[in-house]
This record gives sequence, C-alpha cells and structure tokens, in this order.
Amino acid sequence: MDLHRFLRPDIDDLPGYSPVQPLHRLAAEIGMPVDQLVKLDANENLYGTLPAVREAAAKADLHIYPDPAQTALREAIADYLNVRPEQVIAGSGADDLIDIVIRLALPSLAASATPTFPMYAFLGAIAGVSHIDVPRGRDYALDLPALRTAVDQGAGIVFVASPNNPTGNAAGLEEIEALCALDALIVVDEAYAEFSGTSAVPLLASHPNLVILRTFSKWAGLAGLRVGYAVAHAELTERMMAIKQPYNVNAAGDAAARAALEHREEIFATVHALVSERDRLAEAVAALGWLAPHPSDANFVLFDVQGEGWAATVAKKLRARGVLVRHYDQPDLAGKLRISAGRPQDTDRLLEALREVGPA
Ligand code: PMP
Repeated sequence: MDLHRFLRPDIDDLPGYSPVQPLHRLAAEIGMPVDQLVKLDANENLYGTLPAVREAAAKADLHIYPDPAQTALREAIADYLNVRPEQVIAGSGADDLIDIVIRLALPSLAASATPTFPMYAFLGAIAGVSHIDVPRGRDYALDLPALRTAVDQGAGIVFVASPNNPTGNAAGLEEIEALCALDALIVVDEAYAEFSGTSAVPLLASHPNLVILRTFSKWAGLAGLRVGYAVAHAELTERMMAIKQPYNVNAAGDAAARAALEHREEIFATVHALVSERDRLAEAVAALGWLAPHPSDANFVLFDVQGEGWAATVAKKLRARGVLVRHYDQPDLAGKLRISAGRPQDTDRLLEALREVGPA
C-alpha cells in the first residue's frame, strides 16, 4: 500500500530536525562512561539543576493535569520581567512558542537573520510557511535594509535571535526598535538573555508587534524539563493561549520553573560563573593560535578554525576524546565550531584535547 497517498506531498522529503545525540548513546559509541563526557555542544548549564528546583519538580502532583491557564507560572514570570501576567504564555520550551506564533500568524513567508537557530525555518516548513534567509553582515550584525526588503516581499514574521545562536552576538535595542517599525510580527528570541544581561522587554510597551521568547533551558539548567515562554502584547498572548495545546507545560516543569525563579539569585551565581568561563574559554582557545573567537554575549563561543575542512576533523577528534562541541554542515558556517562555556574543569579538558589534536 502506498502510504504516501495519505500524506502531505509538500513535506514528503523534509529531513527531520537533527538534534544533538542523547548522552548515553554517545557514551556507548565513544566507549567512555557518561560522567566522563564533557558536553559543550548544546549550551546547557553544566552546573546542573539547583537541588531546590529538582525537589520542587519531584513534589509536583503527577497524577493531576497541570493548570492549562498556567496561572501561577505566568504570574511568576510576569513578576520576574516586570510585565503583566496577561502578556505571558508558557510552553514546552521556546520551541513550542516558535511553533505557536507561526501557526497563529501563518504568513506565506517568514524571514530570519542567518546564520541562526534553524528551528524557525524548520517549524515554518512544517506549517507550510516559506522561509527567506537574510544573511547577517560584517561581524554578524543585522542587515536592517535586507530585513526590510524581506518584509516588503511579504514576510509576515521576522525572527531575530539575540544573543544569536550560533554567532553569540546580541542585537542593539535601537536595531530591534527599527525592526519593530516594519509591518510584520517581530520575534526576538532571547533564549540566552540571562547571559547577556540585555533584553528588548522594555520595548514591549510601545511596540505591539513585538514577541519576545525566553526559556528555562539555558540559564536555569532545565533543558530536560522543556519550559519556555513568550512575552508580548496581551492581545497576541490571548490568541496564543487560545490555540496552544492545553497542557503544554507539564506539572513537573511548571513547578520547577517557578522554583527556579524563586531561587534565581543562587542560579545566577552559576550564570555569572559561566560568563567568566566563556571569556576564559575564548582567550585560552585563541592562545593556541589556530582558532579565532567571535565576541559573544551568550554562554558559548563561535570559533573560526584555521585550515580547510579542519573544523570537522577537530570536532571528530575531540569527540573521540569525550569532548563534544558543535560543528555545522552548512556553507555559511564552514570552518567554524561552536563551543559552550562550562565549568573550569570542562574548559581544562577541552584545552587538553585541543592541544592533543593540534592545528591542520
Ligand atoms: N532559541 C534559541 C536561539 C536556541 O538556541 C534554543 C536552544 N538551542 C532554543 C530557542 C530552544 O530553547 P528551548 O529548549 O526552550 O526549546
């Protein structure tokens, strides 16, 4: 039976999203215990989850459905960002909010400032939304005239990650403000904002077409529980709340995210440690003489690796030594590696492995 007859032809050959591999599988492949791997490939908080947050998740009532209105969580987030709870919607990671915004607006076209997080184009494709890549300029700065052209060509949503993954740089508030003057929804993905200390949240009051995405995955060490959120004009969040899956934040995630906000000062101590370690990472790796860092406002650094094709080889050789970094098979990131900031001992292991591998 030809099952494809029942399926949408337009995504018949869409490759699935290629996420990072689970640790136990990597450990088995490399032949090393999980606890000896140095995971610098997904920008997680390697200090782990704060014990009080873990306890809150463990105490959640798992036999009862979570609150579909996310009342307590939205209040806690609103308090954190100094907005109204009506302006907040939470979801299963920031990914879920990207999907909700796309399905709510469903423009024929969307745009993003590339190279960037591929989820905008991927979830757009599944929803039947075409995507324009708008390449960033020198030092990965936003190309505002080109983004304006994309909107003139019909892009109904513009995605800008700030700080951007994988380049690390944050956009200036005046640039975001200029974008908000365009006739489109402007989605600013601030998944790494806690590391940069900058945010477009203050612009929400004067720009109703601005949607800001945030997550508990990175700073709060909760990537595995999947809690993210959007902050926007209440008219937008009200419609987003209306079309989301009712239970898109699970009970453990809801409890853990609230506990993370309650204990944020303790978690911010690890955020500060990661930011200093990011700077040490950039400096120490640059000192090897064959990798050049791009300035970063996030918890990772993008490096240019000297030597044609050497970046891929380095990633492979580091992996064999139990050190995981991110390499990309795409032309606009050829010759680059993205390396997350970890604890000092993680950087030490990375440096040792890089010295063993050496230049091309
Ligand atoms: N936005 C950006 C820019 C990211 O890098 C990531 C994670 N890789 C996400 C969103 C997804 O975050 P979450 O885990 O909350 O879905």
